[in-house]
Amino acid sequence: MARAEAAAGQTSIPELLAQLVEDAIARGVLEDLTDLGDILAADLMNVFLDKPSVIQRQFEQHYRESPQRATGWFYRLCQSSNDIQTLQIARNVVYQAPSPYGVLDITINLSKPEKNPRDIAAARHQRSSGYPRCLLCVENEGYAGRIGHPARSNHRMIQIELGGEPWYFQYSPYAYYPEHCIILSHEHRDMHIDRQTITNLLTFVGRFPHYFAGSNADLPIVGGSILTHDHYQGGRYELPMARAGSTMRLSWPAWPEIEAEVLDWPMTTLRLRAASPGILTDLAEQILLAWRGYTDKDADIVAHDEQGPHNTITPIARRRGHAFELDLVLRNNRQSSEHPLGIFHPHADVHHIKKENIGLIEVMGLAVLPARLLT
Ligand SMILES: [Zn+2]
Repeated sequence: MARAEAAAGQTSIPELLAQLVEDAIARGVLEDLTDLGDILAADLMNVFLDKPSVIQRQFEQHYRESPQRATGWFYRLCQSSNDIQTLQIARNVVYQAPSPYGVLDITINLSKPEKNPRDIAAARHQRSSGYPRCLLCVENEGYAGRIGHPARSNHRMIQIELGGEPWYFQYSPYAYYPEHCIILSHEHRDMHIDRQTITNLLTFVGRFPHYFAGSNADLPIVGGSILTHDHYQGGRYELPMARAGSTMRLSWPAWPEIEAEVLDWPMTTLRLRAASPGILTDLAEQILLAWRGYTDKDADIVAHDEQGPHNTITPIARRRGHAFELDLVLRNNRQSSEHPLGIFHPHADVHHIKKENIGLIEVMGLAVLPARLLT
């Protein structure tokens, strides 16, 4: 749809929607609030979309031909439906920069819609309804939206099964790289890294071998922005970490089939590779458990103290040819009086550039920087 329009020199769907919203405001039928404009735009696109069960069936039909075909079809659908905010994403400043660890990706994030002062005032008078409970809950599919919660009438998800549970696959409305997807639990429950997380990530890349899949860590400071809804992220993109070299080979007598190495990367990362996902899961679980209990005071690493546990892992799964690969990034979220935002976090001298969490995407070598750098 988008390609045909470009060829004909016509207005794109997002541009048309913006014009319709502007017209509604000009004629006085819509109050000039960003959220109300988004609600109208999402509702308009929903008119053209099939209901979720039909889209699910079509996805499965395409999947029977190939996983690539299924995701390609669904991705184009979500772009055309304006579920993926292509116009907003195009505002991001994206470039690459050389580093001692190879070429890194950098994005200055300008895609999140700016609220006008009327929006902020209107949001103050909204009582939280608690529905949907968060931005990642399944109930967002088709949800009309309200002031303070995004419009999702035109949002569609694909149900997949992981570890015997229903999970949902969707594209990120504000993607940072091609086919940036989110895989979310049907249940609103806390992020948790354990053996099942590793199994689920490897299962996902087994079914979608052209995608990587990773999880944010499950502790504050080293986790992502949402800790309260169990979810992963993936996509059809080679982030810089995938190209990292190694500094050391590792081997475990109990797992001779597994190739392992320490990556030449700014964060301590173990890479495991094997033909079978099952043995990778066994070793990854051992490493996770060992790291959770590991203390080395000389390196400022303390496993537990009165504030609770501090060690966890950011895991990433991908395919390397036919093999399965797992990157395990060792994380510690301790704070000190010298580094109150985190010892293993950007320190105060660079907070003018980056103060937010180093989440999954950044761990993998794509720095997402704030819009204020350009203003
Ligand atoms: Zn939720």
